Amino acid sequence: MAIRPIIEAPDPRLRVVSEPVAAVDDELRALIADMFETMYDAPGIGLAAVQVGVPIRLLVIDLQEPEEEGGEPVRDPRVFVNPEILWHSDSEVPYTEGCLSVPEQYAEVMRPDRIRARWQDGKGNTYEEDIEGLLAVCLQHEMDHLNGVLFIDHLSRLKRDMVLKKLAKWRKEQALKAA
Ligand SMILES: [Zn+2]
Repeated sequence: MAIRPIIEAPDPRLRVVSEPVAAVDDELRALIADMFETMYDAPGIGLAAVQVGVPIRLLVIDLQEPEEEGGEPVRDPRVFVNPEILWHSDSEVPYTEGCLSVPEQYAEVMRPDRIRARWQDGKGNTYEEDIEGLLAVCLQHEMDHLNGVLFIDHLSRLKRDMVLKKLAKWRKEQALKAA
């Protein structure tokens, strides 16, 4: 297993539309293992393959929700191969999202609060389930990556430009710190 570098905005590679995964094989499972290691190290709760430079329809999620409030995070790794959204609710909820490809920036995004999704896991089993709450938000955010879409694209132009400006400023500060 290895930690892979995460591609950050405004890198055009994040705008590529990912191709369907052809086969769930050992090569794919090695990539999945690397993606979990990269995501836990970052740390984050979701990562799409395109964020580590592999434009295929694969993403991993681990909400690491504690069993009780204030408790220890519990690992719950989930793999989504070729995920599809079959249905979504008309009602939407706001959630303050962040992204490993837009580091240290957060903004409120509106998304459907319930979806029905179909996907395969890392063994090739197919699932179809209704999903709600944080998992629904996270899955929609990660699936956007597969279509070259970032969460900041859901914001007004003004807000998006503000986030990108803050990101550039943050990068400059990081570079100064490192110098
Ligand atoms: Zn993201």
